[in-house]
Amino acid sequence: MSRQLARIRADIEHAAGGRKVELVAVSKLQSAAAVRQLAELGQRAFGENYVQEAAAKQVALAGLALEWHLIGPLQSNKCREAAQLFDWVQSLDRLKLVALLAKARPADRPALNVLIQVNIGDEASKSGCKLAELPALVDAISAAASLRLRGLMAIPAPWPDQDRRRADFRRMRQLFEDLRQQHDSVDTLSMGMSEDFELAIAEGASMVRVGSALFGARQTRQV
Ligand SMILES: *Cc1c(COP(=O)(O)O)cnc(C)c1O
Repeated sequence: MSRQLARIRADIEHAAGGRKVELVAVSKLQSAAAVRQLAELGQRAFGENYVQEAAAKQVALAGLALEWHLIGPLQSNKCREAAQLFDWVQSLDRLKLVALLAKARPADRPALNVLIQVNIGDEASKSGCKLAELPALVDAISAAASLRLRGLMAIPAPWPDQDRRRADFRRMRQLFEDLRQQHDSVDTLSMGMSEDFELAIAEGASMVRVGSALFGARQTRQV
């Protein structure tokens, strides 16, 4: 795994051309032992899709100073736990979740870092807010003292055609730049996965979420 990590770090650095781009290692359906291995190599940020799975892993890895990102769809009945377990929630996509997360964030923890997930042209996907819903979400998050709006996240449709992917990344970049003009706390544009993180970085991503290229293929989900 150290070889994969070194190669991905080098690829990120190359694509970033001097900009700072953060790597979130997506550890969903990977073992706690695999996370520990990467942590020992200096990787600090990990992304999980399922609250329950993340909770179990955090128990197994207690004592390691890691940063946990929720990147999977968030249900309202999981908000309480998510607000306690994670440092970042990247998949906030509806107003209802704002109040639930804000209320559940423990008072002795720093504000929960939040990215708004935008559905950028993937009509097949149910996750992510519509563009028209973005302003109300921005306002609600900004008004919540226990949440800190850091930026935007997207999972564009996996078009085989590079130019179509690039167009989606560019639209996200534009939304991000507009938002950053208006809010000092906004500094993060999370887009790009194993298949396309270099393209995403070229189009302005400041954070990439890489799973299989780092850990190898995932196990199937055990429910
Ligand atoms: C699984 C997942 C990733 C990582 O995907 P890979 O193709 O394995 O790199 C990134 N982001 C989200 C939201 C995911 O669910």
